[in-house]
This record gives sequence, structure tokens and C-alpha cells, in this order.
Amino acid sequence: MPRQLFVTTALPYANGPFHIGHIMEYIQADIWVRFQRLRGAEVQFVCADDAHGAPIMIAAEKAGQTPQQFVAAIAAGRRRYLDGFHIAFDHWHSTDAPENHALAREIYLALRKNELIDVRVVEQFYDPDKGMFLPDRFIKGECPNCGAPDQYGDNCEVCGAVYAPTDLKRPYSALSGATPVLRSSEHFFFRLSDPRCVEFLEAWTQDGRLQPEVANKVREWFKRDEAGQPGLGDWDISREAPYFGIEIPDAPGKYFYVWLDAPVGYLAALKARLDAIGVDFDAYLAQPELEQVHFIGKDIVTFHTLFWPAMLKFSGRKVPDRVHVHGFLTVNDGEKMSKSRGTGLSPLRYLELGLDPQWLRYYLAAKLNGHVEDIDFNAQDFVARVDADLVGKYVNIASRAAGFLHKRFGGRLSGDLGVEGRALLDGLRAQADALAALYEAREFGKAMREVMALADRVNAYVDQHKPWELARQAGLDAALHDVCSVCIEAFRLLTLYLKPVLPALAAQVEAFLRVEPLHWADHQRALGAHAIGEYRHLMQRVDAQRLDALFAAPPAPAAAPGGEPIAAEIGVDEFFKTDLRVARIVGAERVPGSTKLLRLTLDAGEGRHRTVFSGIAAHHAPEQLVGRLTVLVANLAPRKMKFGVSEGMVLAASHADEAAEPGVHLLEPGPGARPGQRVR
Ligand SMILES: [Zn+2]
Repeated sequence: MPRQLFVTTALPYANGPFHIGHIMEYIQADIWVRFQRLRGAEVQFVCADDAHGAPIMIAAEKAGQTPQQFVAAIAAGRRRYLDGFHIAFDHWHSTDAPENHALAREIYLALRKNELIDVRVVEQFYDPDKGMFLPDRFIKGECPNCGAPDQYGDNCEVCGAVYAPTDLKRPYSALSGATPVLRSSEHFFFRLSDPRCVEFLEAWTQDGRLQPEVANKVREWFKRDEAGQPGLGDWDISREAPYFGIEIPDAPGKYFYVWLDAPVGYLAALKARLDAIGVDFDAYLAQPELEQVHFIGKDIVTFHTLFWPAMLKFSGRKVPDRVHVHGFLTVNDGEKMSKSRGTGLSPLRYLELGLDPQWLRYYLAAKLNGHVEDIDFNAQDFVARVDADLVGKYVNIASRAAGFLHKRFGGRLSGDLGVEGRALLDGLRAQADALAALYEAREFGKAMREVMALADRVNAYVDQHKPWELARQAGLDAALHDVCSVCIEAFRLLTLYLKPVLPALAAQVEAFLRVEPLHWADHQRALGAHAIGEYRHLMQRVDAQRLDALFAAPPAPAAAPGGEPIAAEIGVDEFFKTDLRVARIVGAERVPGSTKLLRLTLDAGEGRHRTVFSGIAAHHAPEQLVGRLTVLVANLAPRKMKFGVSEGMVLAASHADEAAEPGVHLLEPGPGARPGQRVR
């Protein structure tokens, strides 16, 4: 019976493209999965976009899209990265898919039936302009500790104080600028503090399935305080409408907090995959020998070692067998790789520059281990490892031997390899179990070092037997044949050992050797007097220029940014002839008979409303504009149009060539701006 594995990586939040941290995690998991498959395991390897939550709802609104359109556009960009880095998920899903809605509700209802759901009244800030409760990160104000302005609702970036949003002085909504009001509403809580949950989690987290450093960290969360209160608090799992998410059963207008339904997405993705291949979901998960394995980063340990296993356990489902936690990837200077800072290594640019994805796979493999340790990407180290290891030590073995075999022996290997050759190959074969154990434990760095040590042995054998000298002397054909055949057999073994990391290269080698796709058990076989194909170049050295380009500052702006040259210079007086004012959009509607125009009703603080026609209908839904602030050209002469008089103009950004770069983006002043304020 083959080993059965259900493997996931963390679901990326669908508010932006992948950054290098995502790619590192996927490569780590992909190597592990490919290794398991080489060993004969049956694996379902799935992931999905994490589509829900307030940040996506708000980002979509800003982009003039529905949340569904917004996440669909993000999802459409995923494949390029995954294919580009040879990451072979069996299925990529979305947490907004029907399977996830159904499963999240089922799990919730089972928890409720188990009396683990409480309803409590919570006081929270509410934005009266937007008509919605504000998540912490959308409330700003003055720090209650140091008075710094424009601080977020949870902590001060100036003095580092941590507080509740209700502690902020002069709070305002980062969405509308309005002063939020406190409102109470009913929230749903998952009772993680219930003794059943605590007992289960204390056992589950400490039974050896987690990495020791993770188990130790988690143990601290179970400590009781001086009053004997359990360390685990209950978990607020509901959010108020409007919210992009899954509506809670029997609670209209209430939605699951995105972190409730996100991990359920693992199961939804699995279900979609199994449906596609005709396997029953419940029967699959009921297999007693099935192992459920999650790869995650160290920043989301709480969700995966407390909430998620408890949700599964108390809804009567299978719990995860292992959670493989990794550290962050830093680039050169030890700074945390952060998409918000936009620094570091762009995976897309890496691919666009034509850098070999297997260089990165090998480099990351050489750095990764089974612990929660940050790893550092260093460009010099990258070049050195790829060139010295992959090209210098490994690929060279084939290129040194294949030419002689082809020219002198018609590509046929010698059946007899000589005593030393056989001893060398036996030594390589003897490492298979140790290498398998390293792959299993995600000690990829040790595995790569081990494989390169084997390559060193092969190269020492070549240097000792000097095939180039054997080829020059008469009567040594048999010796030359044996030495080159040993090299090819050794190269086949090294290729097998590297195959989880270098899948495309391994496929090229299999074609060159004219063998079936290699499986782990093939280390025990020998090629014998087998005929191989002609050697073709397998891998380049790192192109230093292109690697430099990867880390160079983004290319200088084109001669015509945004598709048109900068206009002729003007003085400040000329600029101030244009009177720009902040205006609130109090009404927006489509114009019958026009696909381009919206009729906007604006309040620019003048005690009256203005009507302005704007050509933004293709990119902005009228209902999503109402309440927003924008910038109005207030002293533009009124213009009579087919549909009425336009009293001014609102400002929007676009590329000169709409076909080259579609999109019209309405300007929006920063939070706190008020209608009537002049833009200067
Ligand atoms: Zn402060």
C-alpha cells in the first residue's frame, strides 16, 4: 500500500502577486512532495487563494471592481510563477469557491452543535459615512501615549505603544476620514478556552508531531495566569456586513472572519481536486493511514497549531499529522523579506530576465533545513554555489565522459566497470537511505552537501583515471570505456538524488540516457551495456550580468512616462490659476445613452452641490463611488454637454494609450481631508 499524503502550503492572501517568500515556501514543499512521489507515495498537493476579508474588499472598491473580479485578476497571474519555478501543485483553488462556503458552514455548525460557539456583545468603532464597522487597521488617530498623529488602531509606530483602537485620541476612519462612533453588535466566539479544547491541544501540540522549537513556543500559550485563568482566550470568528466572506448560518449580516474560512480552504482545494479525479472526499480523508501535512511560515503558527486543529477535532474531522514551519527569507542585508516594502528579489523579474529557475531551486535547497530558521539570499553565494556545485561538480561528470562514449563506442556503455568503478558506484548507492532520511526531514541543505560530496568522489575518480590520457594511448580502449561508463552510471545516480530539486534537468538527463523516468528504487539498478543518446548541454553557468540586473534599481522611467511626454514647464503662478478642491461624491449614476460617462453629484463645501460628468464609467461602479473624496477642478468654465451642463472636472490618472495599459484611476485625497479644502 503506497504512503498516502495530503500536502498543502499556506494560502496566499489574494491582494497582490507572489513575493519571493511565497516562492520559497512552495519550492520547499514541492521538493518534499517530489521526493515522496519518487519513493512511490501517492500525494495530493494543493493550495488556493485566500480571497476573503476587509483588506480585499476595500482594495477591490478602490480599484473600481467587485471583490470577485479583484481576486480573479490576482488568481489569473498565479500560473506564470508556479510553472516558471516548476512548482507542481495538483490543484489551485479559491476560498471563495462553493466547496469552501459549504465546508466552512458545516464545520461551524458542528462546532455549534458541540456547544463551542458563544454569542457576545462587542463594542467596536463604526464608520457612519461608510456604514461599516472598522477593522483595527482602518482606524487611525493620535497615539494615546506620545501624541504622534496618524497612528494605527493597534499600535504606535513612533513610540511602540500597544493599545486598543478605542484608546486613540481624535480617531478617524482611514476609509472616509469620518469620526468613528462606538457601536455594539453581537459577535460569535469559538470557545478555545473550553477544557475540552485545552486538553486536546495540550496533547496534540506536545506529542512530537511539531518541530521541538514550535512545540516549546506553543507550550507557553497554555500557561495559566496568577488568577488561574487559562492562557487560551476565546476567538472572535465573526465580522459584520459589509464584509467579503462567507455568511454565518442563521445569522444574516454576519460573516466568518477570514481566518476561520482560510484554512478550510485546504479541504476545499482537496475536495475540488478529488472531484476532478473521481475520488470520494470523505472516503479519502477517512483512510486511517492518510497523513495530512501543512507547510507554513513562522508568522502563522497560532492559527495552525491552535485554531485549525481544534476546529477540525471538534467538528469530528481528521486533524493535521504535521505542521512544517519554516523561517523567513532575507535578501543580503538580513532585512525581513516584505512585500509591503517592495524590496528584495522579485520572482517575476527573475523569470523575465531568463534566469534558470533551477538555480534558485538548488540554491534554496542548499540553504533550507528542517528548523524554523531564517535563511539569507546572497547573490555572490548564489553564483558560487550554482557554478561550483551544479555545473562544476555535477554536470561536468557527464560532459567529460559522454563525448568519448559517443565517438569511440557508439554510445554503448561497457558492461564491466572494473573493481574501482564498481566500488565507487557501490559507495554512491550506499548513501541512498541516508539521503532519503534527509529529504524526509526537510534537511535539504545537508542532502545537497551529501550529494556534492559524492560528486567530489566521482570527480576524484575521473582525475585519477584521466580518460583524456587513456584516449590518447593505443590499446587502452577497454579502460577508457570502463571509466566513461562508470561516470555515466554515477551521473545517473547523482541525477536521481537531485531529481526532487531539479525536475526539468532530470527529465533532460533521462532523455539523454534513454531511460524511463527515474524512481528512487532505481539506485539499486545498473545500466549495464546500455546505449545512451548524444550529450547536449545541460546547464549554463550563472550569467552575472543578468543576476546584477535582478538586483539593480528598477529601470529608469521611459522617455514618455505613462505614454506621454511631460508637458512644457510652467511657473507656480500659472499652476495656481487652477483651483483644485477636495470634493465628496454624494451621488453617482450612469448616464443613459453613454457607456463612458458617469453623472457625479459633488459637495465641495460650498453649501450647494455641483453636477460633473466624468468619463470613468468603464472603471468605476457608481455605487462604489458614493461617499468617496476626490479632487475637483473648481474654476473650470461650465461646459454644456449632450446630457447636461458639467460644472467642473474630477481628476483621474490613466495611461495615454488605454489599449496599452487599461484603467482610469480616480484621485483620492489622503484620510482626514475635508470637502472644500484647496489642493496646493
Ligand atoms: Zn506613540
